[in-house]
Amino acid sequence: MLPGPNYIYKCPNCETLVSKGSLMSGNTIGADFYSDGSFFAPMMPVFPQITICHDCDTIFWLNETNETGMWHWGEKTNPAWENAVYARFLSIEEYFSALEMNLANNKADEFYIRQQIWWGFNNAHRYKNESNTDASENILWTVNIHKLLGLLDSSNNNDLIMKAELHRNLGNFDTCLQVLDSIVNPEVEWLKNIMIKACKAKNRKVIQLKQNT
Ligand SMILES: [Zn+2]
Repeated sequence: MLPGPNYIYKCPNCETLVSKGSLMSGNTIGADFYSDGSFFAPMMPVFPQITICHDCDTIFWLNETNETGMWHWGEKTNPAWENAVYARFLSIEEYFSALEMNLANNKADEFYIRQQIWWGFNNAHRYKNESNTDASENILWTVNIHKLLGLLDSSNNNDLIMKAELHRNLGNFDTCLQVLDSIVNPEVEWLKNIMIKACKAKNRKVIQLKQNT
């Protein structure tokens, strides 16, 4: 794994600096992959695209608008940049706040936030083997899935896999199977088979995928 430069961003409200790492090259050795498209790869860390200021709680995108500079490891740099706190990922509640504050400027922004929310809810099962039991949480979870479905492009195979997975999560197993059936691509046959098996077992939960299965 080769780290890339560190990027420095400024909170648009109070100008507190935050830092975000980057990756020159990584690999998926020892990685865990899941049916919702998320993965955990020790040799390929991912970095947040939106964060919250630890000083004033302003939520902001880590993009060109707020970027103030970058530095490379081993390079002499501004101590304020070197000491900037790492930008963290938002919590599910904070992602919902970002949507309520209309921070999603386009479809891609909304997709990113809603996918993070979906993965965040799935984490309860992924890491703790728990399901969402809270009624209000279930409503938020369901609404988010329907909104995500509305953002997908049915002419794209990756989006179709996601569409099938979202329907499986909702318990719409017949729809999931129909969507899977519409995907003609030998490369994803193995994944389709795992999802078909899950539908037959009426399993709605995220599944850990084994590499080379
Ligand atoms: Zn701030």
